Amino acid sequence: MLVVMNAGATPEQIEAVADKVRELGYDPHVMPGKTRTAIGITGNRGPEGREALLIMPGVEDVVRITVGYKLVSRETQPESSVFSIAGTSVGDGFTMIAGPCSVENEKMIIESARFLTEQGVKLLRGGAFKPRTSPYAFQGLGIEGLKLLAKARDETGVGIVTEVLDVESAAAVEEYADVLQVGTRNMQNYALLRRLSIARKPVLLKRGMAATVEEWLLAAEYIMAGGNRQVILCERGVRTFADHTRNTLDLSIVPVVQHLSHLPVIIDPSHGTGRAEYVPAMSRAALAAGAHGLIVEMHPDPRTAMSDGQQSLDFAAFAEMNVSLRPLADVLGIVMK
Ligand code: PEP
Ligand code: MN
Repeated sequence: MLVVMNAGATPEQIEAVADKVRELGYDPHVMPGKTRTAIGITGNRGPEGREALLIMPGVEDVVRITVGYKLVSRETQPESSVFSIAGTSVGDGFTMIAGPCSVENEKMIIESARFLTEQGVKLLRGGAFKPRTSPYAFQGLGIEGLKLLAKARDETGVGIVTEVLDVESAAAVEEYADVLQVGTRNMQNYALLRRLSIARKPVLLKRGMAATVEEWLLAAEYIMAGGNRQVILCERGVRTFADHTRNTLDLSIVPVVQHLSHLPVIIDPSHGTGRAEYVPAMSRAALAAGAHGLIVEMHPDPRTAMSDGQQSLDFAAFAEMNVSLRPLADVLGIVMK
């Protein structure tokens, strides 16, 4: 259920409703909106308590939410969510996140951060803890990688997006990162999602490689249910019969997600295609489809990359792609961030 307060409801009236929800044995989630506050209710099985809430001062209506992902749903919050992150924002324009697949050494991550800042990019990606298909492949520099990312931030002011692989390393990643990335293989790691639900940093939740939209939004609900409102969804391609690209980039999920949820959705064209030469076209397609941004792999020398070199743009290709997005954004009236 969702309690919709009057536009003029006082903080005391809102608190009284939250108290009443707790008294009924449910969890209140106070969600301030532009014009009015709503209070999402989770933990209830049906509309029990509706009448008692309806007669409280300041309450406009109490409505049933028909989907399982209550807090993620646009029924609960009609306005799109916008998150302020490291001097930029996600959800109110087209936000570029770029950087190498993995942090490999100090030189390459600082060089990447410098180049991206010159390009106007405010968020740097780079994995310190890597989920690799083979146990023998490079697993990332771990804490050392996090420290190098922090150094890149100190030197350039760029915000850091990096993957959190497990509950054990969550505290360390949370200390260094500005955005906590959950990889496709972990979308249904519920212990990890619960841990991130109490994190104070935004979470970038990649879609599982075989996840339906409902499974994805329910994974986001795990994070929101624990109190973390800042979830950014990321489509990175799914497994299909098609083998001409590494994955099948499902751009059609963008309008679907925007219909069902208020959360921002961004696109990863690098893992989506697996080949650098296809990344610019799919990036422009993502912008045209209404996505809120991109997360793109880029490397100073993709031929020597320790992971995902084939799908990483070099500096020149990244700059060219960035330039090609601008006129399209202008035509569409979208602000590039
Ligand atoms: C990555 O971003 O480098 C990564 C491992 O992505 P995914 O979880 O989408 O495979
Ligand atoms: Mn990668």
